[in-house]
Amino acid sequence: MINTRFFVGLDDTDAPDMMCTTWLGTLLADLLEKSGMKVLSARLVRLNPTIPYKTRGNAAISLCIIGDPDHAFRLTCDLVERFSALSCDNTNPGIVVSIKKPPSAFYWKAVRSLCHIDEAKSLLAGCAIHFRGYKLGRGLIGATAAVSSDFPDHTWEYLAYRQINRLHVPREVDAESLRCSEELTWPHTWDTWDYDLDGPVCIPHTPDPVLFGIRGDSPFMVARAVSVIRSEQADMARIWMTNQGTDAHLVFCDHGMMQEGISYLVRGIVKEIPVTGKGGHVLFHLTRAGLIIPCMAFEPTKKFRDIVRALRPGDEILAAGSYLKNTLNLEKIFVFSAEPFVSIRAPLCQTCQKRMTSAGSGKGYKCRRCSARATDPEEIKEARTISPGWYEVPSGARRHLSRPCARGYVNPDPSYLPVSRERRSGHFTEKKN
Ligand code: ATP
Repeated sequence: MINTRFFVGLDDTDAPDMMCTTWLGTLLADLLEKSGMKVLSARLVRLNPTIPYKTRGNAAISLCIIGDPDHAFRLTCDLVERFSALSCDNTNPGIVVSIKKPPSAFYWKAVRSLCHIDEAKSLLAGCAIHFRGYKLGRGLIGATAAVSSDFPDHTWEYLAYRQINRLHVPREVDAESLRCSEELTWPHTWDTWDYDLDGPVCIPHTPDPVLFGIRGDSPFMVARAVSVIRSEQADMARIWMTNQGTDAHLVFCDHGMMQEGISYLVRGIVKEIPVTGKGGHVLFHLTRAGLIIPCMAFEPTKKFRDIVRALRPGDEILAAGSYLKNTLNLEKIFVFSAEPFVSIRAPLCQTCQKRMTSAGSGKGYKCRRCSARATDPEEIKEARTISPGWYEVPSGARRHLSRPCARGYVNPDPSYLPVSRERRSGHFTEKKN
């Protein structure tokens, strides 16, 4: 038996209606252990959430093993050929076996930006002992990123998998036990139960082999949460170390144009009162260094939209989200200041008790009925419903990579330069009586 420490990376084995790369990774790890090898760690690595080729959550896996890399490569190829969804047009598996870790810069590029297969192949040519791409071989990007991953911060996920002969029947997981599991272990576990929707979020809606996934801050805590869950018998389970819940995808934007498909943290000033559009999406604009950035809280973010609706012009915030179709899709915001908001409107005519209208630029106001005049507008002081702090989308709408507030409220880095106050825009609202 050869005793070498090496890494296996795997990605792009599934289709929307079947399989899951973590299931194949768990099967592989179990078989390697049965053959006498030692699995030192198992990583579930989430990559850029905006990648169009993804099936679901853009996940790849890597295993760190002590044993025989040639045997592990043969076994991985065998499993991929037997179980991956090769008949699906969008499934292009990639396998990497390497003793040396490729530079972590590749992982950071894959989690924050766009990579090309040739970049992965040229890195692998210099460091991998085996690699194989099936069909387009696009999975080599995720497999290389997983092997090169560097986790300055990490969390854990316990994934339980279904028996293969039950995939066609609905999952049996006792909802009440899931709620209890979160109550028992929160804030050390999160995203098991969505209190806004009053339902579980840890069970997939797709016909893949995952029974449930419990996320938390230690292997001990996720196992403790699982110990109270009542469900159908799981076939396999593994606790993955992961970059989920770490904000690894966010890039701080302090100048220049924002690029499509990148997820940003941007500090700016709210330009106008947010408006709710068709479908319940809430839109406002953020101003930052001459840029005007449309920010959207989509309907699935539910009660988070009430927070966004409570923003007022002049509020200084840090907004996190992916920039897609020229709009920042909000995941969370940090409110630096929510000062009393005063809006102005045309005054009431004291005689007619009707609202006056503008008499023209710089000419004050005029009553259209009795021609009475006034110079000053009426000021309306609005009580604020939000105060400084972080606000996040509910569990059910959270991106895998987004850091949940349950992990602690991290104050924004002081190096995030404050925005000059002069950029605050003026505001005027004319309310009809
Ligand atoms: P699941 O989460 O169920 O495993 P998935 O959502 O991870 O599925 P995949 O089937 O793995 O989706 O497809 C994602 C594809 O995108 C893979 O081929 C992966 O190599 C590739 N990919 C991932 N990140 C990037 C990136 N930053 N640039 C280019 N390609 C990427």
